[in-house]
Amino acid sequence: SKEKGGNSYHYYHPEMNKRSLHRLNLEIHLRKALERNEFVIYYQPIVDLRQGTVFGMEALVRWQHPEWGLVSPGEFIPLAEETGLIVPIGNWVLKEACIQTKAWQKKGYPSLVVSVNISAIQFHQIHFVQIVMNALEESGLSPDQLCLEITENVAMNNVPYIIETMQRIKALGVRISIDDFGTGYSSLSYLKRFRVNTLKIDQSFIRDLTCDEDNAAIVTALIAMSHRLKIKSLAEGVETKEQLDFLMSQGCDKIQGFVFSKPIPAADFELMIQKNKQL
Ligand code: C2E
Ligand code: CA
Ligand code: CA
Ligand code: CA
Repeated sequence: SKEKGGNSYHYYHPEMNKRSLHRLNLEIHLRKALERNEFVIYYQPIVDLRQGTVFGMEALVRWQHPEWGLVSPGEFIPLAEETGLIVPIGNWVLKEACIQTKAWQKKGYPSLVVSVNISAIQFHQIHFVQIVMNALEESGLSPDQLCLEITENVAMNNVPYIIETMQRIKALGVRISIDDFGTGYSSLSYLKRFRVNTLKIDQSFIRDLTCDEDNAAIVTALIAMSHRLKIKSLAEGVETKEQLDFLMSQGCDKIQGFVFSKPIPAADFELMIQKNKQL
């Protein structure tokens, strides 16, 4: 307090105060966002390079705040993970993405596979498998039209419970991708213990692909390795024609990136697949 003298003011570091207030404000709004229906899902197409078709799409959440506008996941997912709010938010995304994909299937679009990001905290919920089953049941979506994206760090966790959960998900017929592949712990032994469907090669390796020889070597090796293991390879963050050509020459199975499309609202995604269908 003031009586203690000027020095005590140092405890109220203005910058720290501003940041924690911002955080608190964000958390308060985030808690209300679900009931206020402020989350929206954008979809980014995943292109099958062999078929030249849209294989499916990744569901990417955004927060449509009434005053702040569209908030990107990078700005609220970390806080959502810290506070546990990622569980209800993530479960909502999962169900909503399944409902949307089923709706597109009913409209006569080919069987699109929707990829949903699952954070470690969400994956560790006791009833996670049941939550996946509920999303499938309530939407009526076929299990092979759903893919769960988990990171390497979740996948390589040796806890028997994790392996069992992954096996139960696979037994449902749901697909599993390893997201941001190459950026997590580097033990590859989990690939032997559990056969995932797809490796998503992290965009940090794709970025300088055509001018960085090391990145080119890593990407080439990852594609070759996934083929030998009979796992599909997917390159994310593909922005240029040069990167695309390189990936095609290496036999990469699928790509995702701005070179084809940014993540877009559901209505725009539907227009895009409608056009593709007419071609
Ligand atoms: P991610 O899962 O690695 O998703 C890919 C990110 O790369 C997305 O950012 C996407 O918009 C961006 N991207 C796609 N193509 C390109 C490209 O060609 N160039 C560049 N520079 N970027 C590209 P976004 O949508 O901002 O999402 C960021 C991260 O937030 C995601 O990274 C994911 O970790 C997390 N996230 C998004 N939605 C969810 C969700 O529903 N649940 C959870 N747990 N995390 C989510
Ligand atoms: Ca992802
Ligand atoms: Ca990723
Ligand atoms: Ca990521």
